[in-house]
Amino acid sequence: MRDTSPATATDSGSAGVRHDKPGGTARRVLRLAAPVAAAARVAADAPVVAVAAAGAAALAVAQAGPGITGFGPVRRLLFPRLAGYGDPTHIALTFDDGPDPESTPIFAEVLADRGIRATFFMLGRMVAAAPQLARNVAAAGHEIGVHGWDHRYLPLRGLRETRTDVRRATALIASVTGTRPTLFRPPYGVLSGPVLVAARELGLTPLLWGAWGREWTAGSTPESVFRTLAGDLDGGVTVLLHDSGCTSPAGSWQAGLGALSLLLDDCERRGLRIGPVAEHGIPGLDRN
Ligand SMILES: [Zn+2]
Repeated sequence: MRDTSPATATDSGSAGVRHDKPGGTARRVLRLAAPVAAAARVAADAPVVAVAAAGAAALAVAQAGPGITGFGPVRRLLFPRLAGYGDPTHIALTFDDGPDPESTPIFAEVLADRGIRATFFMLGRMVAAAPQLARNVAAAGHEIGVHGWDHRYLPLRGLRETRTDVRRATALIASVTGTRPTLFRPPYGVLSGPVLVAARELGLTPLLWGAWGREWTAGSTPESVFRTLAGDLDGGVTVLLHDSGCTSPAGSWQAGLGALSLLLDDCERRGLRIGPVAEHGIPGLDRN
């Protein structure tokens, strides 16, 4: 994302640290960052990789292991479509981990006040616990994507378990919202062969992000989250925030909420339009 400095090499590791902490996930993700150099060689040898996101992701996963797509700088360089780079006058705004009765309605209110729609990547288990809220978010005009059922680190699971997880979440979101989702964001932003197979079977296009706020960072504030985001906030980027703290430390979503207002103000000042992924004009995005 920001650059290729070692400081950002733990992006995916941090993602592993913050969430549900399945056994050994963080250490495993950190180890998986090592094959990045191998993937960079793949890109240098075959530039076509950079424009064929789903195919490139499959190739890179096969060559370098599943951690490759969780590594921000490499993702942006090799997989612009997968990272959600689109119309340079537009920002795609996305939220993960909801819907959450504690926080999602507050995010939705901020967006409604500003007349902005976004994409919400929902967890199946959260939709099951708050179906009316999921319905309300969709009814407000927001795009709904799939974030899996349980927020599990899917590369640790086989095809059957991955397929069950993603299929269950997709089916519930479709039945609750009345619209079949077409986008899938894997937990931790990490793809694997089984994830790609399951997504394809379900007609889902994998979509990650190019800028995030890392709200779960210890001591984060609206200002610190916005500063983190702003480092990558170029026109055309897909932004990730979280409308739920269900996988993050206490106070995370509040910091993200404050950062959202700062982000909207900043985009307005810069003349950048904001909307859901569906309106982001991502070249070649296969909308099933
Ligand atoms: Zn998540």
